[in-house]
Amino acid sequence: MIVIDKVQLYELELPLKSAFATSQGVYKIRNTLIVELITVDGLVGYGECEAFADPWYTEETVETEVAVLKRSIIPFLKGQPWQSPSHFAESIKWIKRHNFAKAGVEMALWDIYSQQQNKTISQLIGGTREQIDVGVVLGLSEDIKQIVKQIEQYQQFGYKRYKIKIKPNMDERIISAIRDKYPSLPLMVDANSAYTLNDIELLKRLDQYQLMMIEQPLGETDFLDHQILQQHISTPICLDESIHSYEDARLAITLKSCKIINIKLGRVGGLTESVKIHDLCKAHQIPLWVGGMLETGIGRIHHIVLASMAQFTIAGDISASEKYWEHDIIKPAVTVNEGKIKVPKQPGLGVNLNKAQLHAYLKHSIIL
Ligand code: MG
Repeated sequence: MIVIDKVQLYELELPLKSAFATSQGVYKIRNTLIVELITVDGLVGYGECEAFADPWYTEETVETEVAVLKRSIIPFLKGQPWQSPSHFAESIKWIKRHNFAKAGVEMALWDIYSQQQNKTISQLIGGTREQIDVGVVLGLSEDIKQIVKQIEQYQQFGYKRYKIKIKPNMDERIISAIRDKYPSLPLMVDANSAYTLNDIELLKRLDQYQLMMIEQPLGETDFLDHQILQQHISTPICLDESIHSYEDARLAITLKSCKIINIKLGRVGGLTESVKIHDLCKAHQIPLWVGGMLETGIGRIHHIVLASMAQFTIAGDISASEKYWEHDIIKPAVTVNEGKIKVPKQPGLGVNLNKAQLHAYLKHSIIL
């Protein structure tokens, strides 16, 4: 049983090493929220609520996370003993959406549960890999020379897959310049919903560049339009923003709206829901990969654990800590060797929280 005694939230403001641009905006600072849970018997667990400061990726923000945690999630969490993190995840479904807020708490419960069970989180969810293949994301940029230079720099770490962000008028020109220089680079693009079916001719032309996939070309709720688009292009569509739950994944697979799915465990509400989506995709032979949220080392370790499951056959957006941060809030930081990251072998997160660094980034903390 897990009985939570104390909860502390740490709202952090981390400077990104370099500004990160998507089709929806530019970030220089990453605001994020770390959840610390302490049980009545003194075990401590950490999770990260990974929504952004503005609601462009999903409807959640750091402020909505804090509000719903205070008002609803934490009082419910402290109100009863939990047999497991999944018991909590299934019971909290009375709260609609707020998936990133729920997931931050569920992550911390997995950290505690794995210490209690003296097993790794990967073992508890049926993970099979000791190390995972990882890829890297490059922010949106007009500067093709700079993009090529970044790819060269990242190649020394052996990243298995390269992703660039695109939007209208910053797409084919950039893709074709990369392809001229790197004809066989494992390359994919992410549009973050920047296109509509009116762009179908352009999207068809992208087939010639042999992209691994095009991620979320159309809107979040455009399951039907994605189905139509997939019938017209040979590049596999990967859905990201559209998939918030097992039911969304089932809808997308049934309609054939995509051929690949990216899971961000925060977006789907936690590890329990991620495992359900994993099992569904395995049954339907839909390849998976783990997406990134410009998260700190706390969220990153949970993402690495998820990627240890068998159906995550495509390298995820899980880079080394040093890609984003001068100093991460965990010790040791996440490192990449030959395009691989090791899955923790110890119960819990397998790393320590760097409290001094946490306090250096701290905006404020809230005890609940
Ligand atoms: Mg994406």
